This record gives sequence, structure tokens and C-alpha cells, in this order.
Amino acid sequence: MIGIDLVWFKRDLRVRDHVPLLSAALSGRPVICLFILEPEKFDIEDTDPIHIHWELDCAIRLSENLKKTGADLHFKIGNAIEVFEKINDNYKIERILSHEETGNYWSYNRDKKILKWCELNNISWIEYPNNGVVRRLGDRDGWKKERDARMRSPLSDPPIFKETIPYKEKIPDMADIGLDPRILVNRPEPGENAAIEKLQKFLQEDGINYSWAISSPTLSVKYGSGLSPYFTAGALSMRRAVQETTSRINYIRKNKSQLEGHAEWIKSLNSFRTRLAWRCHFIQKLEMEPDLDMKAQNPIIESNMNRILDPEKFNRWKEGATGWPFFDACMRQLTSTGWINFRMRAMMMSAASYNLWLPWRDTGRFLARQFLDYEPGIHWSQVGMQSGTTGINTIRAYSMTKQGKDQDPEGDYIRKWIPELSMVPTNFIHEPWLMPESLQNSIICRIGIEYPEPIVDELITRKEGISRSYSARNSEEAREISKKVLKVHGSRRRPRRKSKKMSSTTQKKLF
Ligand SMILES: Cc1cc2nc3c(=O)[nH]c(=O)nc-3n(C[C@H](O)[C@H](O)[C@H](O)COP(=O)(O)OP(=O)(O)OC[C@H]3O[C@@H](n4cnc5c(N)ncnc54)[C@H](O)[C@@H]3O)c2cc1C
Repeated sequence: MIGIDLVWFKRDLRVRDHVPLLSAALSGRPVICLFILEPEKFDIEDTDPIHIHWELDCAIRLSENLKKTGADLHFKIGNAIEVFEKINDNYKIERILSHEETGNYWSYNRDKKILKWCELNNISWIEYPNNGVVRRLGDRDGWKKERDARMRSPLSDPPIFKETIPYKEKIPDMADIGLDPRILVNRPEPGENAAIEKLQKFLQEDGINYSWAISSPTLSVKYGSGLSPYFTAGALSMRRAVQETTSRINYIRKNKSQLEGHAEWIKSLNSFRTRLAWRCHFIQKLEMEPDLDMKAQNPIIESNMNRILDPEKFNRWKEGATGWPFFDACMRQLTSTGWINFRMRAMMMSAASYNLWLPWRDTGRFLARQFLDYEPGIHWSQVGMQSGTTGINTIRAYSMTKQGKDQDPEGDYIRKWIPELSMVPTNFIHEPWLMPESLQNSIICRIGIEYPEPIVDELITRKEGISRSYSARNSEEAREISKKVLKVHGSRRRPRRKSKKMSSTTQKKLF
């Protein structure tokens, strides 16, 4: 029987800069390129049909690009080991080639089973690094050096295949896998070609405004990179994004005398490149602690907090019916488009964790299912930080009203997402409960009827939430664990010296 190489595509749905694919092409063995839709994954609590639909559409685009290399993509539905077994019955698998995946607890356990199966069947499973995440690190010493070296290594072009096994079956759709697609408004174009186009447009046109625009939920849609869903599906490699950003920065530096707005460009692209590094930094946390989506980094703090899942508070938070207009608008944007910017994600977690005192696992899972770009390593690290359960991060509790006034002074964004408030005059748009009754009646926006009263008093609950969170960190035991968390996960960057200009009152005002 012929021995084959099997390239297993997971969250690396591209042909460019794909080392497993290149390695298979160089081996000279016949090759099967494989994408599996795994029904067990559909049932886990942080998966939503939007994720499967996005992956499937990116895989379809991948199959079109693969064709140009001479290979077909084989689509299979089922448990990964059963799929491998069937292939192994027909062709002898010599090697499975894939990228390392740092996913949730489910994919971590699946990969452990696959490794065992490969050992039993004498198949070598070769996993290549996918980004800046480094396997088998005990702590963060040396991580940055290794990550930066990887980002500098050369990009590979798509290979050309001599002998591949053709795929003659139907490409499955959402109906074939029994899932109802949830249609997102303005979902981006899937696939690698769209990702590269988006990166180019950002680096050549929109990125100039990045640094001042990303805090706004509306401007960030235009001036942010919008690349996160592509990174999550692996339609774009992190190395390509870093290298293309660096060459654009170098070009701008060299040509600054001819380039209008060069200072803004440099500021924005440096800040973008820093965020690309954050991506690897956060996923590395999950790599080193694979149950981060199940267990708080500091379980003592979590247990001291004793947060409660109040169903009414949870539902109103999820539905964007808290009675805080800016918050509700953000939640409605997220649930209908599958995306919202960083600042507003942090505000959503902060409202849930401090004002409403809801447990992070439930609110985190709900948000995971809304984000088209759901990336477990970033997500659960951020959920931990924004709910105060790591013990190593400053407690940041946002004021929804202040954020609203800063980001949406005229209230247009609120009116767009909350039609109930469309007639509310600007001076009341952030606090409609202050409208006189006569005005509420005349514009048919009665608080408590057409639009809810605030779910809780924002100011009081925020103060209470912050103070309870600090108390939860105070025990000796909690502090000891926090020290360990810092040792394993803390960034090794030297802390920046505090600006003399920024007093503690200014810092508080920022949030
Ligand atoms: C509670 C919470 C949950 C989050 N969950 C996710 C998630 O599931 N998936 C996800 O990709 N991002 C997550 N983020 C981080 C951030 O909000 C998104 O990466 C960003 O909004 C994506 O939009 P963009 O691609 O236009 O980002 P840009 O601002 O253009 O940044 C470029 C890339 O850098 C990375 N990046 C940007 N900000 C961060 C950050 N703070 N931490 C780590 N990497 C970053 C992303 O890969 C992003 O695509 C979360 C943030 C919070 C507060």
C-alpha cells in the first residue's frame, strides 16, 4: 500500500506561509489535504454556528487556492480519529503534518487522544509552530526573543504538488452538518485572498488613523485593521502581518519628506504592531495553562468574590436591555455583526463583573459565542483580566455613561442601534431616565415601558464592585497565588516609568 502524507488543516486555512504544506510537497509522497468538520466541537459551550460557518467558508476559499497548487482539499464530517482511521485503511498514512493549535480545553484533549492514536498506529504527527506561541515553556523568560526570531524568519510561497489524491465528493454546507447559520450583518469576505487585501488596504490607506480611532466603536470599524477573524481562522499568518507592517514602517521612515502624515502613520503602525505581539503574548498564556477557559488564574480571589448568576441581570446584559444606552448599543452591534472593538469588549466585561457581579465563565462564554474572531487564548485571558480574577492586573471598571459621552457625544450611534431612543434629544441621550415625563410621553419613549430603567445604579454598583474586588485580593493565600501567576504569565517588559503629569485622579478619569 502507498504511504501518504496527510496535511491536516485546522485554524491555519491558507496556502501561503504554511510550513506543513511545504513539507508535504517536498516529501515526494502522495498527499491528502484534509479539513474536518467535527460535530463534537459544535456542542461545546463556547462554539456558535457563526464560528463553524466562518471556518467552513474560509476552508472553501482555501480549496480554491489549493487547486492552483495542484492539490484538492478533502472535506470530512466526523470525529478526527475516526476520519484518520478510514483514511489509514485506504492509504497508509506515514505522517500527519499540521500546525500546533492552542485552542480551548476540548481541542487540547482531542489532540492528546490523537497523539496516542498516532503512536499506536506508528504514524508520526509533526506539528509546526503557527505563530509566536512557544510550546513547552516553563515561564516567560526568553519567550519574547524566540517569538521575535520567528517573526523575522522568511515567509514561504505556496508549493506545487506532483501527486495528490483527488477529492470527488460534495463540499458540505451548513445544512449537511445540521447547523442553522446565524446570519451576521456585514460579515467580512472569508478566505486568505480577502485577508491579504484587507491587510494591504489597512497598511496603505486606512491605518493612518488607527491610533486615535480604535477606541470608538464606529471609527474602529473603518480605521481598525478588522483582521482578527482572519487570524482566528489562520487565513493570514502572523509572520506575514508583522513583516509587511515592518516593511511599511521602514518605507515611511525612508520617505518621510515626501509623505504627508508620516508621523501619524508611524505612530499608528507601531501601535498596531504592538497589538500583533499582544496576540501571541495572550495565546501563550493559554498554551502554558490549557484550562484557562475553565479555571480562574487565581481561584482564591474568585472564590472570595462569590459572584452570583442572577438570571434577570444576565439576560438583560445579554440582550442589550440594561437601560444604559451606550452599553445596550454596543451589545446590539456585537450580537448582530459579530464584532466590536477592544475598549467596548472590556466595558462589557466590566459591566458584567463589577456593576452586575455576574460570574465570568457565563458572561465569557456568551461573549465567546458572539465574537466571530473568538480566540480562546486572548479571550479567556482578557475575561480574567477584566473580571479581576488574575490578581496581577489593575482593576479597571469602566463608566458606561462616560464612555458613551466620550465616544458618541451626539448620540448618533445610540440612535442607530436602539430605535426605541431614536427621538430622544441629545441632552438626554446618555441618561434618558432624566427626561421629564411630558417629554417621554410626547416622543413615545417612556422609561420602564418602551425602554428600560437602568438595571442598577451605575455609580454605586461600580464603587461596590471595585471595593469587593480589592477585598477579595487581600488574603495572604490570594497574594501568594498572584505571585505565582506573575512568574508564569507576567510580561517581561520593564514597567514604563509613571508619567509625572498623570495623577491618580487623571488615571481614574480615563475609565
Ligand atoms: C473581553 C475581551 C475579549 C476579547 N476576545 C478576543 C477574541 O476572542 N479574539 C480576538 O482576536 N481578540 C479578542 N480581544 C482583543 C481585541 O478586542 C480584538 O483583538 C480586536 O478588537 C480585534 O479587532 P481588529 O482585528 O480590528 O484589531 P486591531 O486593533 O487592528 O489589532 C490587530 C490585531 O492585534 C491583535 N490584538 C488587538 N488587540 C489585542 C488585545 N488586546 N489582546 C490581544 N491581541 C490583540 C488581534 O489579533 C488583532 O486582530 C478581546 C478583548 C477583550 C477585552
